[in-house]
Parts: sequence; structure tokens; C-alpha cells
Amino acid sequence: MKIHKLPQELIDLIAAGEVVERPSSVVKELMENSIDAGSNKVIVKIKDSGNSLIEVSDNGIGMNKEDALLAFVQHATSKINDINDLNSINTLGFRGEALASISSVSEIALIDTRSVNSEGVIVKRINNEIKSEESLKSDNGTTIQIVNLFNKVPARKKFLKSGSVEFKHISQTFLNTSLPFLNIHFELWHNDKIVYKLTSVNNFLDRVFEVWGKNISSNLFEGMYASNTLKVKGFLGSTNIGRRSNDMQYIFVNNRAVSNKTIYSAVVEGYRGFLHKDLKPAYFLFLEIDPELVDVNIHPRKLEVRFNDSSEIFRNIYTLTKKKLEEESRSLFKSNIMDNVNLDSSDIKGTSNDNNFKVTDNYSRLSGRGGVYYSKSKSGSIKDAIDFSRLLIENKDLDSTDNDLNLKNEDINIYDSTNSFLNIRPFQIFNTYIVIEKDNSIIFIDQHAAHEKINFEKLYKSLGRVNTKPLLVPEVIELKQAEKDIVLESID
Ligand code: ADP
Ligand code: MG
Repeated sequence: MKIHKLPQELIDLIAAGEVVERPSSVVKELMENSIDAGSNKVIVKIKDSGNSLIEVSDNGIGMNKEDALLAFVQHATSKINDINDLNSINTLGFRGEALASISSVSEIALIDTRSVNSEGVIVKRINNEIKSEESLKSDNGTTIQIVNLFNKVPARKKFLKSGSVEFKHISQTFLNTSLPFLNIHFELWHNDKIVYKLTSVNNFLDRVFEVWGKNISSNLFEGMYASNTLKVKGFLGSTNIGRRSNDMQYIFVNNRAVSNKTIYSAVVEGYRGFLHKDLKPAYFLFLEIDPELVDVNIHPRKLEVRFNDSSEIFRNIYTLTKKKLEEESRSLFKSNIMDNVNLDSSDIKGTSNDNNFKVTDNYSRLSGRGGVYYSKSKSGSIKDAIDFSRLLIENKDLDSTDNDLNLKNEDINIYDSTNSFLNIRPFQIFNTYIVIEKDNSIIFIDQHAAHEKINFEKLYKSLGRVNTKPLLVPEVIELKQAEKDIVLESID
């Protein structure tokens, strides 16, 4: 006889491994339970990136003593009863595994809970013994503390990344879980400092503002699609907030953060042509779909879903994205044209020696970037525009090793003495490029990259002797709580 049934403790540990991958998995499960419990306040407290403490407290329906003792048991849940329920899941949890798994990989778990019409109770699990005592809690709700995570599973502990990486996972999980629930107040604390505070709001953009600030929240276009079985609400980032990495792409299906290839590629297709090829779109998509048409029970950590009809999902999301972006770029284009309507025809043809070049709002904006080149008036002369382009192009620092700009001075010597200013007519397109016509060629400059490069070279040259002076008028900058802590720590 070679085959034998494993002891229960080992079975539990193996099962737990699928649910609890790292500290952030615990945060996710506990937050989901608090949300499912109908709370409107959920506070997450972390110590040492989850290694010494993960605590989640809420003001939800709580548990009575009997439930609190059962909650630790594998496959014990209040959320589904029979097979039919599995086909239409309306809660975030349903597998009844989380608390059991968590308590089998952590040394002590504590539940301090009180439900309506019952006494408060504290339940602790020490090794394999579950003990309960009376709680002094006066309000409904639950606090769960997890300590010494993975102490029992040294193999898993060994594979955890550095504290900062684990905390990054935790804060990402916190956002993934909290973003859709606008009516719940959430807080995330790390080592007694607050990292995120999301107050209850009416509008998703207000929540975005609280987390990422104005630049992001004011650069999202809101689009909607609705049929009988599917509702999609999309917040699509403009090119101004295109990302270098996939760090701001949020997909929620019935308020559950998921990763899904169908949706992902539908958005990518929708954005095709609207975003520089090196940039990734920022977006937040909320799908509301009849629970019978989506399977959430395909992943132990519930990170994926499967749709009955994924081509319908693809089509609708692709169309929504593309249409919305087209609409927005059309209206942007129109407003730029309006800015320019008082150009006279000779300017448009560009044949005259007319010195009055109407610079659009975008030009002032581009020249104001970083405050180095700054044009106060909306109407500038063509000389301003050329000078600016010349600064970008002729800056001797630019022909260093970095090829980002891909321009060499000999190629672009448009400013030599034989050329007058007026042969060169720079203008700006897509809010992003300066286009210059020269003889029979056309030159595109990525103004932002160029400007960064100039600033970089300047800073690089002055390394070690950076000159600073106080501003005459203080500049107010917006910081997230976490950023504020960093600034305060390194204020010197
Ligand atoms: P699931 O969420 O899949 O049901 P869990 O192991 O996460 O499984 O939780 C088991 C049960 O414990 C839940 O069904 C719920 O009844 C109860 N429970 C867990 N956390 C809370 C909480 N914060 N407030 C009220 N009840 C809770
Ligand atoms: Mg749960």
C-alpha cells in the first residue's frame, strides 16, 4: 500500500496555500468579509508589511458567539446554501475558506465581534485550540487580527519579498478592494501612520481625486454602455496621463477587481491610435453583469472571472472605448480650431512674412511646462515659437548618448544664419509634438521628452552643486498621505 490519506492538518495547510499567497491575500479576504457584512467603515492596520500584524475592523453586522466559533471552520459560510446559489453570487466571499485558511497558516487569529441583539465575544485560536471569552465591545462590528503570518509555513515565509514589496502588494490590494465601494469609508494604516483615507463619496472621480490627486481625476473621460444584461461604466484616461507601465488599469466585475484578458485587449484595441505607442492607457472600468452570466468560481483567490459570452464583452468594451476617445479628441480638436479662428488666410497658407502667429492655448501650456520656458500671453509672435523650438533642438547637451530624441545637430541645423526665422513654422499637434517644416523635410519633436532631456542635462551637469533659492511666492503641491510622510521624513 503506497497511497494513504493525508492528515487533516496537512490537507488544510495545502488548501490554505492557494488562498493565502502573501500578506496582501489576507488583507483582501478580511476586507471582503467586512464589505459583505454591510459595513460603512473599514479600517485596515498593518505592521511590518503584514509580518507582525494585519488587523481589519468594521462596523458591519458582526457575528454571534456560535458564528464566530464556526467562522474558522473550513467551508463554513453564511453566504451561499446550495448549488443554485453558486450560480448567482452577489457577495465578494462565498467559498467559506478564507478564515479557515488564514488561521491555519498564522499562529494566532483573534476575532472580537458583536452582532445586533447579542453579547460581544472574543474568539482566539491558539495552535489548534479555539477559545472564546466575553468582549467589552459596545457597538456592532468585527475586528480581526492576524499575527505571525506564515510562522508555521517557513517555506512560504522564505519566498516573501522585501517588506516594501509586500507592502506595495498590500496597498494595491487595498485600492483594488475599496475603489468601487463609494459609500464605505476606508483607511489603510502602516506602522501607525495613515497611508490612504478614502471618505465616503457620491462620485467615483472624487475617490480618484482622494487617491491620485487632480491631475488624474481631471483627465478621465466618463463613458457608459448599457443593455439588459450588461452595464459598463468606463473612466478612460486621456493621453495626458498615459502611463509608462500598466499601473493604472483597473477592471471591476460586479465590484470585484479582476484581471481579464478579454477586457484588457478590448481596451487596448479601443485605444489604438489615440496614445503614443510607448504609453499604456490609464483606465477604470466597472462592469455590472447579471451574476448568472459570469463565473467567479474559477480561482481560489477569486482574481479571475469567466464570461458566458466573452465576444459580447469584447465588442461592447471596444466600441465604448473607441467611441468615447473619438468623441473627446473631436471636441478637443474643435476647441483648438476655435482658438485659432482669427488666423488670417495668409497665416494658414504660411506664405507671407507675417510676424503675427497666433499661438494656441496649448502653446502656452507647452512652453510653461516645468516653468522653464514660459509664455504668458496666449498670443505670441512666431519668433517665440521658433525660439522655443530652437532651444529644444539646438541645446548642445542633447546629442549625448541618449537617443530618445534621435536628432543630431547636423541634421537639424535649421537655425543657421542663411535661414530666416520665417522659413520655419513650428506648430504643435496632439498636445505632444512640435512639428517644424524645413525645406522639403518635416521635423517632429516630442516636446515633453525634449524638455525633460534638457532639464535632465542641466541637473546632471550641476550635480553636487545644485543651486537652490526660496521661491518668492510659495508653490502649493498636493501630496497623498504616503507621499507626505516621505517628504516629512526627508524634509532636511
Ligand atoms: P466566506 O467569506 O467565503 O463566507 P470566510 O472564511 O471569509 O468565508 O468567512 C466565513 C464566515 O464568517 C462568513 O460567511 C461570515 O458569515 C463570517 N464573517 C467573516 N468575517 C466577518 C465580518 N467581518 N463580519 C461579519 N461576519 C463575518
Ligand atoms: Mg470571505
